[in-house]
Amino acid sequence: MSTATLIIDLNAIRANWRALDAKSAAETAAVVKANGYGLDATRVATALAKEGARQFFIAVAEEGHSVRNAVGQEAKICVFSGHMQGDTDLIRENNLVPMINSVDQLLRHVELLPDHSFGIQLDTGMNRLGLEPAEWQAVRELVLRLKPQLIMSHLACADEIHHPMNTKQLQVFKDLTSDLTIPKSLSATGGILLGADFHFDLTRPGIGLYGGLPFHDSQSVVKLDIPVIQIRDVETGESVGYGNTWTAPLPRKIATVSAGYADGIFRVMGSAATLYANGTACPVVGRISMDMIGVDVSDVETPIQSLQFINETHGIDKLAKDAGTISYEILTSLGRRYQRRYI
Ligand SMILES: *Cc1c(COP(=O)(O)O)cnc(C)c1O
Repeated sequence: MSTATLIIDLNAIRANWRALDAKSAAETAAVVKANGYGLDATRVATALAKEGARQFFIAVAEEGHSVRNAVGQEAKICVFSGHMQGDTDLIRENNLVPMINSVDQLLRHVELLPDHSFGIQLDTGMNRLGLEPAEWQAVRELVLRLKPQLIMSHLACADEIHHPMNTKQLQVFKDLTSDLTIPKSLSATGGILLGADFHFDLTRPGIGLYGGLPFHDSQSVVKLDIPVIQIRDVETGESVGYGNTWTAPLPRKIATVSAGYADGIFRVMGSAATLYANGTACPVVGRISMDMIGVDVSDVETPIQSLQFINETHGIDKLAKDAGTISYEILTSLGRRYQRRYI
């Protein structure tokens, strides 16, 4: 079989949730949007519900059905995108809590699901989702009478501890909500690490659960093992792969492994990428193809069946760096054709 194996450690996700939970007095939710950052929202939510998580966040109402089945009827599932046209049945049937982002959404919700719970999202400066401060002032009294379950906002720069935007948004959030007794939430993974001022009643970690920065102390969650299809000797001056972009400076042993950019191994990583034969680093040579990559395994003494692309020491943030992106994009791009093993 030449399909690569992606190993997903659900116990590490549980441990990461526990570790983030221990950092605050607040309740700790779990963000499982985008199919649990690409790792399977059903399995992640099931594991975290067992660990004690009682609130889950998804991006869109369509993600609610599978998460509801995973976590049972008691857990709360909140939808960041709020109540969009066409969402009403999904919200009712799966008992989702839409985070209302605009006056339009508020009116839609009140009209179509008058007795159904909801939360409010405020924009405190990111300008992505949420009611603007002036809109909030305009609808505040009406909203408070309807008893929202949660009032939240989102930090734009929480992965940079000293970024002035953090305290600026914190102040705006406090100004808008300090007189309210409704549960409040401001922080994702980055905000949890900024300290108690940012925690309020509920935190909403995502990436830290899945082993990504800025949670430096997280346990790694994914490992990727890619079978070697063939190994060949390449003479000095011979080239490897499309476009002849790499030429052997001396005799080399080249392995062709069975995964490529169609599996989320971004072509832009090129020769920055490294695979591992147990402990030995093996550089990528030539261009990354759709389903194959050439790797220099000259330094490996023992016979090899496969190479590791993601392991304990070479994690999702290293890959992200090589691709000029963030670990979130690495995770959510992981290939659909990998054989996935959950441990
Ligand atoms: C994605 C998201 C989160 C989780 O963020 P992480 O950085 O992955 O912890 C929390 N809140 C909102 C509004 C989000 O969009």
